[in-house]
Amino acid sequence: MKYRIEIDKDVCIACGLCEHQFPNYFTIGRSHAEYLGSQPLTVEDEVTAERLDRLGQECPTSALLIVSSSSTVLR
Ligand code: SF4
Repeated sequence: MKYRIEIDKDVCIACGLCEHQFPNYFTIGRSHAEYLGSQPLTVEDEVTAERLDRLGQECPTSALLIVSSSSTVLR
């Protein structure tokens, strides 16, 4: 599965949830998260895909936009 990941920097509150769950993909800057991964992000295993889908829903301010290759918005 391939994902496109965007962060609305005006909405992100730098809570650190995304960095905590995926330290290889996200880091927290001075005021918002930054995405470190490739675009699109290729996820091979189902467990990681499910965790990523869940993260899109758990972001407290809906700053994370995670769109799968099937163009489904998973926020
Ligand atoms: S989980 Fe959402 S609000 Fe929290 S740092 Fe990541 S993008 Fe920002």
